[in-house]
Amino acid sequence: MTTIIKHNFGAGPCILPAKVLDEAADAVRNFNGIGLSILEISHRTPEFESVMKETEDLVKELLEVPDGYSILFLQGGASTQFSMLAMNFLHQDKKAAYLDCGYFSQKAIKEALLFGGVDIVASSKDKGYNYIPLGYEIPEDAAYFHYTSNNTIEGTEMFSFPPTTVPVICDMSSDIFSRRVNVADFELIYAGAQKNMGPAGMTLVVVKDSLLEKIQRQVPSMSDYRIYRDNGSLFNTPPVFSIYVAMLNLRWLKEKGGVSQIETENIAKAILLYHEIDRNPLFYGLADPDHRSRMNVTFKMKNPAQEQEFLDFAAARGVVGVKGYRSVGGFRASLYNALPISSVEVLVNCMNDFEKENKEIELAQSESV
Ligand code: PMP
Repeated sequence: MTTIIKHNFGAGPCILPAKVLDEAADAVRNFNGIGLSILEISHRTPEFESVMKETEDLVKELLEVPDGYSILFLQGGASTQFSMLAMNFLHQDKKAAYLDCGYFSQKAIKEALLFGGVDIVASSKDKGYNYIPLGYEIPEDAAYFHYTSNNTIEGTEMFSFPPTTVPVICDMSSDIFSRRVNVADFELIYAGAQKNMGPAGMTLVVVKDSLLEKIQRQVPSMSDYRIYRDNGSLFNTPPVFSIYVAMLNLRWLKEKGGVSQIETENIAKAILLYHEIDRNPLFYGLADPDHRSRMNVTFKMKNPAQEQEFLDFAAARGVVGVKGYRSVGGFRASLYNALPISSVEVLVNCMNDFEKENKEIELAQSESV
């Protein structure tokens, strides 16, 4: 049995449920009792075909995907989608609308510009992407509207977007399966696996079949969504192990009660941590309170000189992965699905105790003068 010895707040790859790790380890030794490892079997075997089928069914069920959509398992991470989606859907004479709301949307914009025009409908760059822009218009003639639903680095999350008739394409890498979404609002959703889905290696794409009819450009086979759909994501060798562990993880999520249950738990975890950040005089949150992410909580210390000390203090209590992204600094605590609320309590207690120790030191210093 896997015993959790650390409270893993890493931003991705990140914590996975202990049960999933145990089952994955068993399958590495002997997959389904067939006398072979999951790492050794062909992707063309009936055993693996049933893994593909179950993973696809779980995605459909957990996200409540309506008819008329295909579920694809790709490689190259979410970063490959930045160029692939533009290659497929942005044509030279068209413009695509992009919301510039963080580091990863900037990267998506840079890649799209290789294939056509980009209309940045709004940006939050002016304040270091600490909020989600509101009150913008999406041009009616845009090829598509692209946004990032959760900004993993900056710690902001988008809960609504303006109504539009333009196809909506969303990078949901860091909040997919963490909250309910209405899939019918989107024509393409993509997400790297390594947060709430499973280990790195697989990229999920949920795409409306009618969008695939709009591809005009000649696209290399490995970048053509239709090839993946027509071959059941088995055009070439898929990331077998990553898909298998994603299946185990989605089974775990289903057993827990699905996305609405985990959403309730995720809200409780986020409230707990943000409450402490707002209460504790040593810390402050980085994201605008209206746009705070439930998945990635970014915060700093009022006295930056104490940050390393706090990291060491927390590490001594088993808290890992809370150092902020290098361009942002401070701390980032990721509260993905598999992180139990008890781990958030440990972090909150660390902050609390650090504050108390700080007060004691201050008191001792003031008494000694
Ligand atoms: N988009 C978002 C929102 C992300 O968080 C990440 C990675 N953390 C990416 C895109 C890039 O994903 P990948 O590393 O799988 O290419």
